[in-house]
Amino acid sequence: MKILTWPNQILTTKAINVEKIDEETNKIIDEMLNIMLSNNALGLAAPQIGISKRIIVAKISEEQLVILVNPKIKNKKDLGLYEEEGCLSLPGVKIKVERANTIDVEGLDRKGNELHYHLSNLDAIIIQHEVDHLNGITLLQKANFMQHQKIKKQLKQEARYVKRNKKKIIHKS
Ligand SMILES: [Zn+2]
Repeated sequence: MKILTWPNQILTTKAINVEKIDEETNKIIDEMLNIMLSNNALGLAAPQIGISKRIIVAKISEEQLVILVNPKIKNKKDLGLYEEEGCLSLPGVKIKVERANTIDVEGLDRKGNELHYHLSNLDAIIIQHEVDHLNGITLLQKANFMQHQKIKKQLKQEARYVKRNKKKIIHKS
């Protein structure tokens, strides 16, 4: 499985709730953890690997792995936290986005047990970023108009470059 990048439509589609946590759900979770860790990322949402379901994984407190099925953010507090964020689905893009400094997040683990986390700072940012993905929101929608135009251009150039190189490879073989 590979990471979807802009402008794939799944990235801007609202993901659906997981009705039943079964073997398939656990397979998706394992795949997501693998991809997140092998890319040295801090979080990943299922739509990023083409699965439009409400599942996120994250690495918080620098090492603790978090798996949340059907996550819900409650009690967003202290807006005004701005950190530069990147995203595996928007290669090369960095944007400063306004986030809440502290959040409570609830969801289910891979066995269906209820989880609750009280998070702040970077940990809170990661979870807000991943839950945004479940709602079809990427950093691009969070950018202001000027940033948006610039980044779109940059991403289009990158896509063209990848396409050109792929063609070359196909031509050779
Ligand atoms: Zn992302």
